Amino acid sequence: MDAIERLSKIFERFPGIGPRQAGRFVQYLLRSSPALRRELADAVRELGGSVKQCSECYRFSTAEGKLCGICANPSRDKSSLAVVASDADLLALERSGTYRGKYFVLGGTISLGSEKMSGLRLQQLLDAIDERDELAEVIIAFPANPEGDATADRVRDEIVRNTTPGKQIKVTSLGRGLSTGSELEYADPETLKNALDSRR
Ligand SMILES: [Zn+2]
Repeated sequence: MDAIERLSKIFERFPGIGPRQAGRFVQYLLRSSPALRRELADAVRELGGSVKQCSECYRFSTAEGKLCGICANPSRDKSSLAVVASDADLLALERSGTYRGKYFVLGGTISLGSEKMSGLRLQQLLDAIDERDELAEVIIAFPANPEGDATADRVRDEIVRNTTPGKQIKVTSLGRGLSTGSELEYADPETLKNALDSRR
């Protein structure tokens, strides 16, 4: 396999990227300056070295220590926990500038038909909820699509079933200011702010 083919095959493994797009990425890199190619190679190499997964919210971060910048920040509101599917969705909520609580990255949504939660951090989420005494509200913030809705139902059921009796935890979902089918990560800050304000 030559270098062009090899890189193209790597791009094809990326989410949502088919052979044609993969080929276009390679063509773009071939036309780009050696400096840009070097920058890309360095950035990819660095992912292995300086990026870690936060031991509390599970997002990837370059912060030193076990916690990411958000989890290490003592002024974040410990009474609310937003459960998101991905790092990108977490960052979208963060950009909306209204949410001051904590986060938990589930690691994806369930695929319809299978109902399987494999690969998702459901048990870690339940443990986190159980361990945090100050927690009063869990906000489910998944994408507004069938997979997101199915995951939300399942997560809600599991939380209700597993919460220690006597522990009062409110489980809410983002309001439907988000249009159906929209990915959180592409929603504008104002829409996300409204969706947060209208959660129930
Ligand atoms: Zn964190």
